[in-house]
Amino acid sequence: MAVSDHVDLNAFIEGVKKRNPGQPEFAQAVTEVAVDIYDFIADKEPYHKYQILRRIAEPDRVISFRVCWEDDGGNIRVQRGWRVQNNNSIGPYKGGIRFHPSVTESVLKFLAFEQTFKNALTGLPMGGGKGGANFNPKGKSANEVMRFCQSFMNELYRHIGADVDVPAGDIGVGGREIGYMFGQYKRLTNEFTGVLTGKGLEFGGSLIRTEATGYGAVYFLHEMLKHQGKDLVGLNAVISGSGNVATHAAEKINQLGGKVLTLSDSEGYIYDPDGITQDKVNFIKELKNVKRGRISEYVKEFKGAQFHGGGARPWSVPCDVALPCATQNELNEEEAKTLVKNGVIAVSEGANMPTTLEGTHVFKAAKVIFAPGKAANAGGVAVSGLEMSQNSARISWKEEELQRMLLDIMQGIHSRCLEYGSTAGGGYVDYVKGANIAGFKKVADAMLAYGVV
Ligand code: NDP
Repeated sequence: MAVSDHVDLNAFIEGVKKRNPGQPEFAQAVTEVAVDIYDFIADKEPYHKYQILRRIAEPDRVISFRVCWEDDGGNIRVQRGWRVQNNNSIGPYKGGIRFHPSVTESVLKFLAFEQTFKNALTGLPMGGGKGGANFNPKGKSANEVMRFCQSFMNELYRHIGADVDVPAGDIGVGGREIGYMFGQYKRLTNEFTGVLTGKGLEFGGSLIRTEATGYGAVYFLHEMLKHQGKDLVGLNAVISGSGNVATHAAEKINQLGGKVLTLSDSEGYIYDPDGITQDKVNFIKELKNVKRGRISEYVKEFKGAQFHGGGARPWSVPCDVALPCATQNELNEEEAKTLVKNGVIAVSEGANMPTTLEGTHVFKAAKVIFAPGKAANAGGVAVSGLEMSQNSARISWKEEELQRMLLDIMQGIHSRCLEYGSTAGGGYVDYVKGANIAGFKKVADAMLAYGVV
């Protein structure tokens, strides 16, 4: 007699932990998705028979490699690089590259897993991947960063391609690093193809790619508020991070009539009761991207603001909406309770998995409208998808066209979340569940079509 195909949820999660020892972030991400889709697939026999849950939680491949480079002092340095190609059922692998000392295989596997569902949610034909290295760009000279990027690409180029795997930026990887990596790819292959996104406008980049993740997270927030008959005008926003996602989220909050009270980096946060207006956001962009400075320097320029150091996070500042836009697990259960106590009505995750599982439960219990990263921050990869199309067709769309497409995509993701996340009675929308099921269904159905591969 055949063994039952129906896996017990707890046994499945325990199995994931056992097969991936020492990878807590990956187990956390899989658990979050599995809990939501388990009920959905309960009565759908093919998903069980073809072991879709087991297969989707196993990356297609994980490539790990040595990256050697020489620092300005003539010392040879050794780092580890990875590319996790998670799932290419609905399109070429697609996902960012992260350079940060905290990068591990577990972190990249969680990000590649999440990326698979996020990319499916955009409605564009992109599979899921993620890569990076435990390299710390902070304090390195531009030449050191260039040598590292070139060495990283000396191995990565074998595994990527415009129809195979198309990396982009992430933490520690912005336009400068993408330029260095694309230059090296081109040199190694003698090919000019859309193999990376987030490129400079002069060499195949797309307008609004830089802004897209932060803008998209605010568009999504706006859609959620609209669905509840509310608006962003006059609302106070607390944002963490001061990188690409955070600064552009701040920019869009300002444009839509909200007030931004905080931004942060790994050393602490700034609180500006007068609001971090567009000219102040421009100051921060220059500070972080050009001068490579720290957020604490803001208070020297804007006297009414305060800096809270020692790695403090901004969640104790009372606000109406919160946007965690720095990194994973940066908003825990206690901090979620503080936000709820202070009256937060909505949370939109600009970063990937910034709220711990316990934190998301607090928001859900308090009926705070909560957008998970895989829905709210999909605007970046969506415009990357549009960059791929432009590169393939050798065209470039105008900014207004791209803004319209981005808004359209974010509204489409919102509708897909409603389809599977609306609760009986039509009240509270469980966007986490909606995003998980909608993303899963698309990938899973493609996997079923391929048979056992
Ligand atoms: P950046 O490198 O531009 O900025 C990251 C910001 O987060 C910096 O302010 C950084 O501070 C802070 N930060 C990083 N690590 C930590 C930490 N361990 N503790 C506290 N603060 C930290 O990255 P992005 O803005 O591109 O990415 C931010 C988040 O958004 C990530 O989760 C990323 O995966 C996600 N994301 C990014 C997309 C994109 O298009 N760029 C797309 C979708 C998601 P410091 O300078 O001190 O390191």
